[in-house]
Amino acid sequence: MAQGSMQSSLQHPIGLYMHVPFCVSKCAYCDFASYASREVDIPRYVDAVVREIARRGELAGHPRADTVFLGGGTPSLLDEFQVTRILDALFGAFPVEEGAEITCECNPGTLTTAFVQALGKAGVNRLSLGAQAAQSRLLRLIGRVHDWEEVIASVEIARQAGFDNLNLDLMFGLPSQTAADFQETLSAAMTLRPTHVACYGLIVEEGTPICRDIAVGKLVLPEEEVEREMYELARQTLAEHGFHQYEISNFAREGYACRHNLGCWTRVPYLGFGCAAHSFFDECRTMNPSELDAYLAGEEPKTERVSEEEARFESMMLGLRMTRGVKDEDFARMHGMGIREAFGEKLDQPIGGGLLEWHEGALRLTRLGMDLQNSVLVDLM
Ligand code: SF4
Repeated sequence: MAQGSMQSSLQHPIGLYMHVPFCVSKCAYCDFASYASREVDIPRYVDAVVREIARRGELAGHPRADTVFLGGGTPSLLDEFQVTRILDALFGAFPVEEGAEITCECNPGTLTTAFVQALGKAGVNRLSLGAQAAQSRLLRLIGRVHDWEEVIASVEIARQAGFDNLNLDLMFGLPSQTAADFQETLSAAMTLRPTHVACYGLIVEEGTPICRDIAVGKLVLPEEEVEREMYELARQTLAEHGFHQYEISNFAREGYACRHNLGCWTRVPYLGFGCAAHSFFDECRTMNPSELDAYLAGEEPKTERVSEEEARFESMMLGLRMTRGVKDEDFARMHGMGIREAFGEKLDQPIGGGLLEWHEGALRLTRLGMDLQNSVLVDLM
């Protein structure tokens, strides 16, 4: 982290991330830093993050920002005064550029008109809704607290408050989910006219309730080829509705790709605030305490400098998520050497195996490579 309180000399504006680690209840698949039934701690948490934002803005030299992301957890569990206080603190500590992308994640069933209006008034211009699936049986099974009617109601609340830039998160590969279920979810999502859709395959994390239920045979995951079929359905359906796939899981209408995430995948510096938030700034990665109590008790973050070799690998690991891949020219500007010079023979196997390809001066994953991204990364390590 840059020390001192001088004005930042960063050329490119940074991203700002704020983590809200509170949820109504814990979803069965979730291993994110989120806490159910801790709403009583929200006022104390807001005080702590407002202090952190001011302190770190000063330390970093108040760099300009052009993306802001309130994520969670469930930011829509805050009330309108709390969220406004946090946004005011961010805008007070960092000059946020005109036209910046300012996103707030929300969960259906927690979104109120007062909250959305407060977001609009404070300058938030993009909402991301965790919609997940159109079938109540699947939503219940994964522990979501809402049904699809509440997704529709939340979109309505958002539109009435003037929000047109909406992302919907959808999930596939859920236990007992069929390709027909997922097609129904995609179709239902399309009727809500989002500008952006993120489709995530379920990752079964150790220690989660869903993992235990799968282990004892209470829940059964779809076969691998069914899961692949669902992913293909997403690609086809979204393409038919004018969405462009710009990342493994992300699809956007023209001009609506998430600039905050694009910044993270291209190693634009960002500062993250709150429990479990990460930052990348001044070639250092900083991790705030992942436990809420430790964060509230003022435990110090951990900071590691990223070595040049790690930085080159990160550029590939993050950049290959994007369908456009990693431009050789950008890589050389960032690392002082081209991709071929940095990775040499390590490129031969994934290129020869049809997992990576050169396209218009960029190295990108092929369609097969997208399915086998981890094996490409192992080759490049
Ligand atoms: S809403 Fe999101 S963060 Fe909260 S428990 Fe569910 S998956 Fe986890």
